[in-house]
Amino acid sequence: MNKITAYIARAIAESLLYALAAPWLLLRWWLARRAAWRSLAPVRRGTITCPACETENELARIAKCQVCGATEAGSLVYCSFCRTTSSTVTCTGCGSTLRVLDGKR
Ligand SMILES: [Zn+2]
Ligand SMILES: [Zn+2]
Repeated sequence: MNKITAYIARAIAESLLYALAAPWLLLRWWLARRAAWRSLAPVRRGTITCPACETENELARIAKCQVCGATEAGSLVYCSFCRTTSSTVTCTGCGSTLRVLDGKR
């Protein structure tokens, strides 16, 4: 009987803890979603501007995958052959390596 009582008490305490933490967890989840949405702005826009030479680099053009070597017309940050994703592109103007996701440092 004692074990059952302890189990029920623990279940009630945990439920209460989650209920109290819910607003905070929801806020944290929403802030993470907003940060992810903002960091994907260059992907939605389709171009990334080089901070050094101000060249507008198209994210969709013919490119060779650095991992499997496939050449295809499509996204610079995703290879449909080997499913590799890349977080950087090379500027066509000056050769600088550019971060695609704004939030990633
Ligand atoms: Zn590939
Ligand atoms: Zn550049």
